[in-house]
Amino acid sequence: MKRFVDYGGEPYALSWILPSPEGIAVRCDCGSEGSIRCRDGELIFTCSQCMQKKIYEQEAVYRVSGHCNQCDRWFNEQLHDKRQYTHKIVNYACPHCGTMQAMPVKKRFDGVYYNLGIRDGREPYFGLELYFLSSYRGKPVWAINRAHLNYLLTYIAADQRQRPSYAYTRTASYRLPRYMKDAKNREGMIKLLTRMQNQT
Ligand SMILES: [Zn+2]
Ligand SMILES: [Zn+2]
Repeated sequence: MKRFVDYGGEPYALSWILPSPEGIAVRCDCGSEGSIRCRDGELIFTCSQCMQKKIYEQEAVYRVSGHCNQCDRWFNEQLHDKRQYTHKIVNYACPHCGTMQAMPVKKRFDGVYYNLGIRDGREPYFGLELYFLSSYRGKPVWAINRAHLNYLLTYIAADQRQRPSYAYTRTASYRLPRYMKDAKNREGMIKLLTRMQNQT
């Protein structure tokens, strides 16, 4: 009997994967395996086969924040009027008391792209297909990179799964769809994942 103790936390969430050496494994338009990684705050796609390199243009968020000069309450609001984005200062009404005041416009990038997820087998930044992508009875089966694929195989092949003894509310298997974990699909899933592991 194979016993498997799941990892705590979410090591395969994109926020952990992107800064890691492996990054997200994607299929380059040349057909080879490329990767998306985060370096010095920049998201970069590279393919070592055709030497392509693309940098993700992040969408900035513009905000005004500070204490109201009338009611002294704090606010932090996102601007939605594009004409205001290029201004250094805007006239803004306090959301609490409505007093208009001059506020500096702050441009922010932080964390915007970490909230995105994989959709229809594609990563959300360049829209590239994942390299480890297949389907099982019409449902997508994918892994973010080779380490994730190995994890999935170990997880699904185990007869007994155990949560880690330390107290994490989520484990690495948290985001796996139910059909991948279902015991009746186990053999089929193992075959499929093994095939994915051996693809070149
Ligand atoms: Zn390429
Ligand atoms: Zn106010």
